[in-house]
Amino acid sequence: GLMRVALDLQTSTALFARIFEYLDLKPAITDRPGATPLAELPSTGPLVAFDGVTFRYPDQADDSRPTLDSVSFEIEAGQFAAFVGPSGAGKTTVSYLVPRLYEASDGRVLVAGRDVRDVTQESLMAHIGIVSQETYLFHATIAENLRYARPEATDAELETAARQANIHDTIASFPDGYATVVGERGYRLSGGEKQRIAIARVLLKDPPLLVLDEATSALDTISERIVQEALDDAARGRTTIAIAHRLSTVVDADVIFVVDHGRIVERGTHASLLEADGVYASLFRQQSER
Ligand code: ATP
Repeated sequence: GLMRVALDLQTSTALFARIFEYLDLKPAITDRPGATPLAELPSTGPLVAFDGVTFRYPDQADDSRPTLDSVSFEIEAGQFAAFVGPSGAGKTTVSYLVPRLYEASDGRVLVAGRDVRDVTQESLMAHIGIVSQETYLFHATIAENLRYARPEATDAELETAARQANIHDTIASFPDGYATVVGERGYRLSGGEKQRIAIARVLLKDPPLLVLDEATSALDTISERIVQEALDDAARGRTTIAIAHRLSTVVDADVIFVVDHGRIVERGTHASLLEADGVYASLFRQQSER
């Protein structure tokens, strides 16, 4: 009986951590009656789709201009899809709707062909890894923070993930290594270090679908490059939705969606969008000049 309780606690800790990867949002979303688990994600065909999605945040008036306005797109399994566009365009909001941290006001969000409202939140979260702009660390050791992603992970697995995320050497240099206590009132990590811990967590979780909200603008050039390399590594072999603030990270994307005022105004590859000489091309020229 006691074993059972311990196991249940471990499972719910992991679920808690998954949901609170986006802690600041405190989503009020719960399972609908009759919700069923999402099956294994297919390795080919459409994986994530928005079908006429319109969205307003709960505090936005019903007649205000929506944050997302009739957004439709499809991302195939294995693709690296990037969302770019001006600040405030709605890119990050797209990343909230995929794991159903908020629900579409109108239209449907589909994962593996299923409306995310019809699947259990736990099964949806189990398939998605999130690296958000804000990494939440518990007041606990680094090892414990990493294990929230997978309680049964061995020390060797923690280290492998940390190495892939370019954070192992930094952790090893801390006074207590992986036993260093971080989080509130703990050892203070830089923004780049926290983000690399978040990447290590995602690597441990090993989800088929990755949602990356780049926050590299807050980092200096060297840690930006280190974080970027870790992100590129994490994205390899999985379907990735990247919210990009710098266009240099999306030139190799399979598909780029350009968002402006809550709408997708252009879509294509870097080369085709440059050729089209529209919003993307002018954003790209602006950033290249800096
Ligand atoms: P950035 O590149 O600056 O991160 P973005 O394209 O990711 O911008 P979003 O963060 O998706 O843009 O924001 C889109 C719009 O929604 C903005 O006008 C923003 O102020 C608004 N918004 C974001 N979060 C909320 C919220 N919780 N409640 C109300 N409005 C919000």
